[in-house]
Amino acid sequence: MSRFFSAKYKSLTPYTPGEQPQDRQFVKLNTNESPFPPSPFAVRLAREEAGRLELYSDPDCKSLVAAAADCLGVGTDEVVFGNGSDEILGFAFAAFCDGEHPAIFADITYGFYTVFAEQNRVPYTEIPLAEDYTLRVEDYLGVRGTVFIANPNAPTGIALPKREIERIVASDPDRVVVVDEAYVDFGAESCVDLIHKYDNLLVVQTFSKSRSLAGGRLGFAVGNAELIRDLNTLRFSTNPYNVNRMTMAAGVGALRDGDYFDFCRKKIMRTRERVAAELRALGFDLTDSCANFLFARHAGIGGKALYLKLKEKGVLVRHFEKERLYDYNRITVGSDEQMDILLQAVREILGE
Ligand code: PMP
Repeated sequence: MSRFFSAKYKSLTPYTPGEQPQDRQFVKLNTNESPFPPSPFAVRLAREEAGRLELYSDPDCKSLVAAAADCLGVGTDEVVFGNGSDEILGFAFAAFCDGEHPAIFADITYGFYTVFAEQNRVPYTEIPLAEDYTLRVEDYLGVRGTVFIANPNAPTGIALPKREIERIVASDPDRVVVVDEAYVDFGAESCVDLIHKYDNLLVVQTFSKSRSLAGGRLGFAVGNAELIRDLNTLRFSTNPYNVNRMTMAAGVGALRDGDYFDFCRKKIMRTRERVAAELRALGFDLTDSCANFLFARHAGIGGKALYLKLKEKGVLVRHFEKERLYDYNRITVGSDEQMDILLQAVREILGE
């Protein structure tokens, strides 16, 4: 830290992203990317747009907003795009949390939430999940603040049914509930259509997982037009060109190529079920994941030891140095070939 760093950030602990080795020598199952390339149509549109990079991108993201509104059945004034959903989540913490409205989220959830809260200098309360890592809706009723729920949750993959989320949203119309649906396309129920019933609901999604555009950085929120206007006030006060031209074009292509989207997400769900069954047969204990990752522990080997041994064998998974998570690893569901390498490595390690 330099001596010039503002005192307001002195205690800020930044988010630690999963390792990103650039040499491709690893089977990379640690950051929940898609094993599939982006839709060929998305790639073609992005490539065409590369020749126009001398111009700024459209700050209103009109083409993308129109495509998303069409796809999701919402109005064009009910969507806002960001440079990844992380940017949108950051705007939501800034816009809807303060001393009067602390951020509220589970003790085990997406690790960036505490960073967003600290960076925006808003108080936050972590509500412990039940012993089995499920979220108890009752714990969220009558609590004052702005609620953030990852559904499916990370890193457990456990999803709440839509009617349970609705109970939380409906219980207090004067409290914003942000549902982070980064992994919803892998088998959970989306709350997008509830935005027309509740003006205090914001749903956030990403193109990084089910639409294979993690490197493009694209995410969005849908919600009541007034909530979206608030987020746009922050967006235009931060970076009106937050979505670059190539990513915007790729995003339109990805939304228009529904067949490819369905093919990829369904294939990942099938692979997830196969690998979950094989891991269970090897003695692993897994949560019931509705995401593109598995969350697994084994009574015979500690989480960190398994992570390190897998790394030695060229397989990267994600281990979290956090209470209640030490025993586990989060394993991205990759291609069948990648998962076979993982399973082989696991068998060797358990046999040692
Ligand atoms: N929410 C959750 C629950 C996540 O796991 C992630 C991915 N790390 C994100 C949001 C952010 O994804 P992105 O910024 O790539 O859209």
